[in-house]
Amino acid sequence: AKTNAALMARRRAALPTGLGQAYEVFAERADGAEIWDVEGKRYIDFAGGIAVLNTGHRHPKIVQAVKAQLDKVHHTCFQVLAYEPYVELAERLIAKAPGAFPKKAFFLSTGAEAVENAIKIARAATGRQAVIAFGGGFHGRTLLGMALTGKVAPYKAGFGPFPAEIYHAEYPNPLHGISVADALRSLEHIFKYDVEPARVAAIILEPVQGEGGFYVAPFEFAQALRTLCDQHGIVFIADEVQTGAGRTGTWLACEQWGVAPDMITMAKSMAGGFPISAVIGRADLMDKPLPGGLGGTYAGNPLACAAALAVLDVFEEEQLLERSRAVGERLKAGLTALMAQHPEIRDVRGLGAMVAIELFEGGDLSKPAAELTKRLCAEALKRGLVLLSCGLYANVIRILVPLTASDDLLDEGLAILGEALQAAKR
Ligand code: PMP
Repeated sequence: AKTNAALMARRRAALPTGLGQAYEVFAERADGAEIWDVEGKRYIDFAGGIAVLNTGHRHPKIVQAVKAQLDKVHHTCFQVLAYEPYVELAERLIAKAPGAFPKKAFFLSTGAEAVENAIKIARAATGRQAVIAFGGGFHGRTLLGMALTGKVAPYKAGFGPFPAEIYHAEYPNPLHGISVADALRSLEHIFKYDVEPARVAAIILEPVQGEGGFYVAPFEFAQALRTLCDQHGIVFIADEVQTGAGRTGTWLACEQWGVAPDMITMAKSMAGGFPISAVIGRADLMDKPLPGGLGGTYAGNPLACAAALAVLDVFEEEQLLERSRAVGERLKAGLTALMAQHPEIRDVRGLGAMVAIELFEGGDLSKPAAELTKRLCAEALKRGLVLLSCGLYANVIRILVPLTASDDLLDEGLAILGEALQAAKR
């Protein structure tokens, strides 16, 4: 019989160290919000393949849509011969994006590519070079993605030089002493110290930092950035790769801002596990690059388009946006109860079902508890719960459970989390 240990040994011999792996487990099959490994052990999935499985593992309607597409056509390269699901997906995503202006959309395969393409378009449209991103942010592992990312180890260490003209402002984070006013001041400093606003093509913001620690950008901050971008002719990009596709209680997190970004990137849960990403934006900007300047061989693959259309249907038919808000409430209630028992938990936060707790040694805000967080994950895995950590200080547990999970399964997962924290403290 196959064992995780034997497969891990083969993995170690054949695969590079840089390819991280949270747990020494090999999945055999999965369904809904549960996974079984090669040894038959069952896990509750609070990781969702890092924000990819809002509609759960192998949702029957998505599986059916992909099978049906597989029997028709599964690759032409859209830039050679087109197919309707691509266009239909663009139409439906445009209709769901905020902002009372004409929009266009097109597709790539990964989140990093969506981000790269949004920046390419912003530069082509404005004729400007510079881009402002935020400390602690994550935008991908390509060279431009790494340059935009605001965390050195492990994402950037040893990989430079990076593309020029990228600047990092502070992301609001009151728990760690950065107010909205501080963050806005850091932008003023960039304009004073480094680059004049007239040379800035774009500002790119995660509505909730994902890898960075599930910190929610206050809506007033997004509104202030909108005003700043309008003043200076800067393109405002919302990176919704992790927040998008219903995770935060609305289809896109930026719908809650009250102002619209000029461009939006999506990936991950938009196709429930099939590789596709999107750039959605103002038509006048999107039309600036020359024909052939955008695209990719696999970009907008028919199987992934079919999956993404099925995800949109499932969200409507199963009212998953309401469910996202309810899942968020239930998780927050459970975690808040846990916080009352454990002083190490100093914060329960999130937007919709994008929920996290942050851990500190003895509850001391100057001592992020990275080791405790690590042990908590290990103890949870032993008990059959897949947890993900994140954060600039590696002391955040983020929950990205499928929105299709039942209340019973959520409660079972929360109970394991509590037991695991108890065990991790010993
Ligand atoms: N942007 C954000 C906000 C992300 O969370 C991620 C992935 N974690 C990316 C971009 C990169 O996406 P991908 O790994 O698909 O390239």
